[in-house]
Amino acid sequence: MSSCGPKVKMDPGLHRGQKPPWIKVRLPNNPEFWSTKSLITDLKLVTVCEEAQCPNRWECWSQKTATFMIAGEKCTRACGFCAVKTAKPDALEADEPQRVAEATRRMGLRHVVVTAVARDDLRDGGAEHFKRTIEAVRETNPGIIIEVLVPDFNDRDWALQRVMDARPHIFNHNIETVERLTPLVRSRAQYQRSLTVLKKAKAMVNGKVATKSGIMLGLGERKDEVLQAMDDLRAHDVTVLTLGQYLRPTPKHLPVVEFIHPDAFAEYKGIALEKGFRHVASGPLVRSSYHAAEFRPELDVLEAIEADLRAMKGIELGPEHLPLPAIKPQLEKAIA
Ligand code: SF4
Repeated sequence: MSSCGPKVKMDPGLHRGQKPPWIKVRLPNNPEFWSTKSLITDLKLVTVCEEAQCPNRWECWSQKTATFMIAGEKCTRACGFCAVKTAKPDALEADEPQRVAEATRRMGLRHVVVTAVARDDLRDGGAEHFKRTIEAVRETNPGIIIEVLVPDFNDRDWALQRVMDARPHIFNHNIETVERLTPLVRSRAQYQRSLTVLKKAKAMVNGKVATKSGIMLGLGERKDEVLQAMDDLRAHDVTVLTLGQYLRPTPKHLPVVEFIHPDAFAEYKGIALEKGFRHVASGPLVRSSYHAAEFRPELDVLEAIEADLRAMKGIELGPEHLPLPAIKPQLEKAIA
């Protein structure tokens, strides 16, 4: 809840106000940006791109990608880094899953990221709404890769299971920062709990999901702590990692203690790959969903998910339902 903010405050005097030259925000320069914007407005959808004031929104929207934020734009938590409003949330909108699905269809997306505010006011933390959204997207846009970026559902296994029952391809839950800084940076969430949520999500579907997490750098963490966080994530079966620079959304938010040089991001990427992460996005402007479609889960994971869905529904899905590139007609002819 909003009253449960960080107990210890970070010294605001630590803030580095002057942005270095590598933090550059590109302004919209093509019609795609405006068409994405009007589609989102038409369907009355909320995006984390806008709510979190993401610095990449000009670029992502120009490339017709966006991260949909379901369950409203008011969050029950008050994390020190996040620009999303903290307030009593509104009731869930029953038709929102279908509107998100429709947006993915109209945008022609082959990979969608769906996230939500933390809904601690709901018993299931919004898990059923995630499930309905995944199902609606899959039904409307067969073959799309579905990535969810979820809150911790207060570690309620039955709620997590509800999301996993809908079989997302990628399960993303951010640890956000190193263990020592977690009580300063995150509201209610706990470092160890986030790690176990990641591990449990994978175990619930017998490993047939890619798990992903992200860390913001520049909040005063030390290098050894970042490396430890990488080890912790690997020990909890996480294979996809994002590392980005924390930027302060307003003066009321946590200070930027350090601007991490792009060379250091590149070094972290190399280390993370050596530690066994399968895909690492690391750079000053990297966010959880930045260029998300560049990562594709392993083929055996994709096939296993589709096979399980077929079995669950008791229906035969055609090859068009598999998240694989369709065989070109000429190739089909050649094979025949
Ligand atoms: S990085 Fe993610 S949140 Fe930011 S604009 Fe792109 S899709 Fe939206």
